[in-house]
Amino acid sequence: MSRSRGEFIPELAYFEPDALRYPKGERIFEWIKSQGIPYRMTTSHNRITNLPGESELEQYKIAKRTLVVGLRKTLKFDTSKPSAEYAIPLATGCMGHCHYCYLQTTLGAKPYIRIYVNTDGILAQAKRYIEERAPDITRFEAACTSDPVGIEHISGSLKEYIEFMGGEPLGRLRFVTKFHHVDSLLDAKHNGHTRFRFSVNADYVINNFEPATSSFADRIEAAGKVARAGYPLGFIVAPIIWYDDWEQGYGELFDKLSEALPMEGTRDLTFELIQHRFTKTAKTIIERRYPKSKLEMDEAKRQYKWGRWGQGKYVYPKDQADALREYITERIFDKFPEAKIEYFT
Ligand code: SF4
Repeated sequence: MSRSRGEFIPELAYFEPDALRYPKGERIFEWIKSQGIPYRMTTSHNRITNLPGESELEQYKIAKRTLVVGLRKTLKFDTSKPSAEYAIPLATGCMGHCHYCYLQTTLGAKPYIRIYVNTDGILAQAKRYIEERAPDITRFEAACTSDPVGIEHISGSLKEYIEFMGGEPLGRLRFVTKFHHVDSLLDAKHNGHTRFRFSVNADYVINNFEPATSSFADRIEAAGKVARAGYPLGFIVAPIIWYDDWEQGYGELFDKLSEALPMEGTRDLTFELIQHRFTKTAKTIIERRYPKSKLEMDEAKRQYKWGRWGQGKYVYPKDQADALREYITERIFDKFPEAKIEYFT
């Protein structure tokens, strides 16, 4: 496997014994050995108790650099509104350290990066979902629980999924990334069925809240490559954050995007806009893990939005949310008049 700039290399790996019965598991095992990365066997990721690190915080950081290679046992896919019908499993966990990431709350104290090796079974299940919904198109989101591009040099799964969907007249794949390691995906037979989205933001947000991800410049360069490879392209602006110079920051973002994007990238371009939100649980966890973070999470400055299933979220009050939406929407239409804004939430 060739390496490109800044690719993630785990510091420790665990293998579930069954994973070695699959070609992908075997291939990753050989790669781990060739890199000299220490590895252990485990019967299940739930049983990993001997992670190095004295404090919970240290274990959290080590877990983010620990790979677990195993099987996806449940093949029932979650739904993934509003961007797709289903979340397709590929991996869980991410080596990024975005302060606001919702994986903070969903993955618990030890967010290892789990790669699933039974991708044939996962894709067979995707095919069943596609057939159930025919003649309607079925969209699958591959980035609900991880950043699949950031680990593609280890898993190779994203290319498999892209090519699978390329051969499915009614199947579509979508994913979002903050990483620029796209070269291995450029020759995939995607058939226009995969929408490749990059997460972008104002410099202030990227510089303050997104450690251990690719820079804006690298993401945009990668977006250009992807557009030239004929993929439908999209940008997710998330989380949209209200800060002192937000108008200037978001204005610059769209200026820079329109300067950097080649013509190919502006055809069939989509934007998804997501304002920052947090739950009480997330706030407690973020303050513990990133105690110096400048992320504003003051309930008094926010509006409470009831959740359909239990805990609600704190979003921006209506006047602020409207101002953000209107300003950003105008900037997008100004720079990319043919782009489609899929939603603001
Ligand atoms: Fe979370 Fe995405 Fe950041 Fe990874 S890159 S930590 S998945 S927000």
